[in-house]
Amino acid sequence: VSVRALYLDGGELCYRSDHEEPRPGPDEALIRVSVAGICATDLELARGYKGGFQGVPGHEFVGVVERAPDPAWQGRRVTASINVGCGRCARCLATGPEHCGDRAVIGILGRDGAFAEYVAAPLANLVAVPDALTDERAVFTEPLAAALRITEQLEAPPGRAAVIGPGRLGMLVGKVLSLAGTEVTMIGRSAASLALARAWGLAAASGQDAPRRGFDVVVDAAGNPAGFRLALDLVRPLGTVVVKSTFAGACDVDMSTIVVNEIRVIGSRCGPFAPALLLLARGQVDVDGLMGAEYRLEQGVAAFAHAARPGARKILLRP
Ligand SMILES: [Zn+2]
Ligand SMILES: [Zn+2]
Repeated sequence: VSVRALYLDGGELCYRSDHEEPRPGPDEALIRVSVAGICATDLELARGYKGGFQGVPGHEFVGVVERAPDPAWQGRRVTASINVGCGRCARCLATGPEHCGDRAVIGILGRDGAFAEYVAAPLANLVAVPDALTDERAVFTEPLAAALRITEQLEAPPGRAAVIGPGRLGMLVGKVLSLAGTEVTMIGRSAASLALARAWGLAAASGQDAPRRGFDVVVDAAGNPAGFRLALDLVRPLGTVVVKSTFAGACDVDMSTIVVNEIRVIGSRCGPFAPALLLLARGQVDVDGLMGAEYRLEQGVAAFAHAARPGARKILLRP
């Protein structure tokens, strides 16, 4: 059986009407995709990040379980966490699949993703979507979970934090920190890019105007090398820089700033799905302001181009 899908090979994205249907493993479900979101990681994969992923991208999705070995999942509306570990190694057993040396990641590493009619996912990764939550809002679960990861990594909510990059992920990070009681300043290049930050009640500033050494925690969600350099200027001595940017290429930094000011640098990737769904279901994060446009799968190449435009909001794909 063949399905319609977007396919990435050597940084080249194309639409295929005859991609092979995913074959779920013994403990996996086959999910009919309702809607999927394009994120910065997908754009970086298309630019060659991670040495160029070959397969179907897409890791933010909502769908309906078409087939599952456990009948309790049959017909349910779900999303799924994206890391698939071996389930046996010390890291899998201690902290989960995120850092398994043998892992696959749905739509990112060694496993087809959700920019297709169907996607396969382990039952262990499935999370049921509450009835009251629309597909279009629930598709933000994965990026919101990634934002929540920061609150897991910091011992306590910081007093003052700056978030560099008021894009799709940066806005979610700012919102999550402010819900935790932190005074958040969103840092962006243009007034237009900061309009949503102000609408969400967050303080906003340009990189030049933000106080040097003024923040306990600075989150770099800029998606470019300049973000980390600015983060080192804005964080106070003994403060923490959380790196959320993933981009293809290297970053030049003056390491002495980190040493002299004893800055802690934390890399941050995937986070917990259940609390993210709860925040969405309660309406505590108003993701409607992050919605961009919707495209059919057939228009996937145009959808990627739209998502890459500066200031673009979340672009959704519908099979
Ligand atoms: Zn993502
Ligand atoms: Zn493992």
